[in-house]
Formats: sequence, C-alpha cells, structure tokens
Amino acid sequence: MNHLTTETFDANARAALQDVQLRGALRQATSLFGKRRLAAAQSLPDWEELRTQARRIKDETLLHLDQYLEEFTANAESAGARIHWARDAAEANEIVKRLARERAARLVVKSKSMTTEEIHLNAALEAEGIEALETDLGEYIIQLAGETPSHIIAPAIHKTRHQIAALFVEKLGIAPTDDIPTLTITARRVLREKFGAADIGVSGVNFGVAETGTILILENEGNIRLTTSLPKTHIAVMGIEKVIPRFADLEVFLKLLPRSGTGQHLTAYQSLITGTKRGRDGEGPDELHIILLDNGRSRMLAHPTTRQSLACIRCGACLNACPVYQQIGGHAYGSVYPGPIGAVITPQLIGLNKAAKLPYASSLCGACREVCPVKIDIPDLLLHLRAQITEPQKAEGSKQKASGSRAESFSFKLWAAIMTRPRCYEFSGKLGHLLQRFVVRQNRIDEVGRFVSWVAPPLAAWTASRDLRPIESKSFRRQWRESRSSTVTEEAAETRP
Ligand code: SF4
Repeated sequence: MNHLTTETFDANARAALQDVQLRGALRQATSLFGKRRLAAAQSLPDWEELRTQARRIKDETLLHLDQYLEEFTANAESAGARIHWARDAAEANEIVKRLARERAARLVVKSKSMTTEEIHLNAALEAEGIEALETDLGEYIIQLAGETPSHIIAPAIHKTRHQIAALFVEKLGIAPTDDIPTLTITARRVLREKFGAADIGVSGVNFGVAETGTILILENEGNIRLTTSLPKTHIAVMGIEKVIPRFADLEVFLKLLPRSGTGQHLTAYQSLITGTKRGRDGEGPDELHIILLDNGRSRMLAHPTTRQSLACIRCGACLNACPVYQQIGGHAYGSVYPGPIGAVITPQLIGLNKAAKLPYASSLCGACREVCPVKIDIPDLLLHLRAQITEPQKAEGSKQKASGSRAESFSFKLWAAIMTRPRCYEFSGKLGHLLQRFVVRQNRIDEVGRFVSWVAPPLAAWTASRDLRPIESKSFRRQWRESRSSTVTEEAAETRP
C-alpha cells in the first residue's frame, strides 16, 4: 500500500476501482459524513454568513501573515512556549529529533496530525531509534497495519470492521471478535500504558491565536488531552497558515469545522493551550515547543490564486463530496493529502513535475466548492494548476517542466476556435456526422437511445470506461430553428382571420 506514489496515480486509481471491499467501505462512510454535514449545516440559519466570515478572516490573515506570525510568536513565548521555525520537512524533523535527543527520549506519543504526516515524522524518529506511537484510534489502526491515512479526519475510513478485527487478532493477540466495544477497549488498554511512560507528546494544531499565543486542538477521543498534558514535554507542529488573528475568531471556526468534518455541533474535546504549566500544582507539560512549518507554504502565499489553498482548515468535507475520492479513496492519490484539496496542495508542496496527474483527478463538478466551509474555489485552483502543466512558459515564475503535450495544446486551441464561431461550430457538427463512421467500431441501443460504445484509437480511451452519443445528422441548433419556424407558422395560421 505504501509504495503508491503521486506519479503512479492512474495505476493506483485503476487498482482501487477493482477493490470491491474498499469501494463499499468508502461509499458507506462518505455518504454518512455527507448526510451528517448537511444536517449540521442546516441547523445553523446563518451558515452561509459564517462561511463568508471565515473566508474573510482567512484572507485577512494570509494578506498579513508575517505580522500575525510575529504577534503569535511574541505572545506564545511570553506565556512560556518556545517557538521554532522550520523551512521544510527536514528542518522540522531535525528540531524534533534534537529535542528528543536532549531529553534522552525513547518513547513519543502522538496525536493525529496531518502536518506530522506531511513531514514523515514517525519515520524520522524511528530512524533515530525512538518509538513514535499514534494514539488516535484510526491512526493507531493504520500504524498497526503499516499503512498511511486515507482520509484527512478519518484515517482508517477504508477499513471495514472485520478487517480491523482481524488486524487486532494478528497484532495484539486478542481472541477473535469483531465486537466494536471490545476492540476499542483493547486499543485503550494498550495506549493508556504508553501515555504514562512517554517522554514527549507530539501534536498538530488546528488554530493558533495571534492575540494570545494560544493553540487550539480539536478531538473526540481524549487522546490529545493526554498527549499534550501527561508527558513533561509537548511539541506542537503547526503549519504557518494555521494562525488566526483574534480569540473571538475561534467562534466562527468552531461552528464550521466540526459540522463540516463529522457533522458534530462541537467535538467532544477542545484543548486550548497557552504556554506551559503555571506553578508546581498547575496542569500541562513543563515545556511547550511550537514548530512553525513553512514547507512550500510561502510559495502558495505568493500567488493570489494559490494563496486560497492556505485557507483550508482540514475538515475533510471536500473528500466526502468528491465523486472521484468516493470511488478510489485516499491511498490512490499517493500523497498525505488526498481528495480535491490534496489534488491542489500536493503538487504545490512536492512540485508539479512529480504530481502532474493529480490536478486531473477531478471532474470539476464543483461539489468540493459547495461544501467547503471557507469557500475555497478548488475547481478554479485545479484549472490554474492544469494551465501551469500545459502552458509552463506562461506560468508566472514556474520553472517546472511541462508534462502536457503540444498535440493537446493544439487540440484545445482548435476547440476554442470552433466553439467561439457559430458557423464553424455548426459545420464541424455536420463534418463530424459524416466522418464518425470511420472511427465508430461498435454501437449499443437501449431504452434511452443509441450509444457509441467503442471508437478507434486514439479516442478509444474515452469509450474504455463510458459511452458516447453519436453525432446526429441534425444539430440541436437546426432542430431548434425548425421547431421555432413550425411554431411561428402554426401561430400565424391560428391568428389568420
Ligand atoms: S478545502 Fe475546504 S472542504 Fe476541503 S478540507 Fe479544506 S476546508 Fe475542508
């Protein structure tokens, strides 16, 4: 599973489409999340206004990100936290490893964090001989299975109950059962012992408040509370885009994020952490280290179109709504970030040349834009990235190699020329009707009508997975003209004295 990469997306997707169990698990989970999201959104009459407000806050923050990061740093440090800056994944991992080495750490407990997945922190720690244990149930399951998450908020979404039961029997040595309470109690028993023994707790961050230096982490299982408070040292890895200006802004995001993600009105736990333990009898860790990670985010920030990618609050709603994700799941994307937002972020993080297939993993239906709580125009971003792939010489500042062909570029120019000239368009329809007999290899007729089910290469790729309508002898425009003129004639006949 882990050998899947962004470069093998087509093959990954084809393999996923053959996996009946995977598709069943995805269908069930994504439709459930979708229904819950809708019901939760409808429970708030000002939902649309909240989305607009959230986007306004994000846009304002991103425009002045340097100032808000400085404010966040000053306030977090004055509350006792220590801020570290990491340009990329390697620097971030190096900081965590150094902190671990200095404390002679052997065991690190981790709460679910896409940012630490992005930098592959577990592998970096394991290379140092430090055990990194995931404590979110979904993350724990996929860690046991040796896999990567396949969803932003539900890492084990692709697994059925029976698969998880078999995994627990194999890895934890329990008696065979697929009783969910028994499985969760088993995981809890194993994890509770580790919290007490851990030297360091590592978490992600949902929001960092510039005004107070507070970090907010949301969860449902209580494992983040334990990760961030039981070990003496807490390290939080935070993408620089997670900062928001004011404490009051949290009200907007706390209404949007849980509703969009799981359909909950609020997550079971909201951990607001400002600095370290106050006094001997206070709560929390002795040390709090916050790593502010860039890792390509400044590049996204520089362009007005790609900047909106940084408004993402990682709710996962666009994944659940996406007809492509619903069929192939997250692993096929070969990236930590799957689905529509992954198809946008991944090429910007790792380079278009390595992830040129991902912006095409979308039908541009717009379902992702409809559900996004911060109104990110993902289809627009996908088109922007596609343009960079096909016309690299026009892409501002891009030195990435083009993977689109000249033939493709020529075809689209020809297409645009025909579509913008009504006479040309009509003539092309007539010509297509006459010429189609030379490429059509097979027809099919059903109750809906006639379809072309197989055409000759190079067009065969289209009919390999879908049918085409044949080009009719009379175009729609001609039929429309004829029906208009017959209506006018009938009306004239009726009004004649
Ligand atoms: S792009 Fe929007 S819908 Fe998708 S994960 Fe980000 S915030 Fe959620």
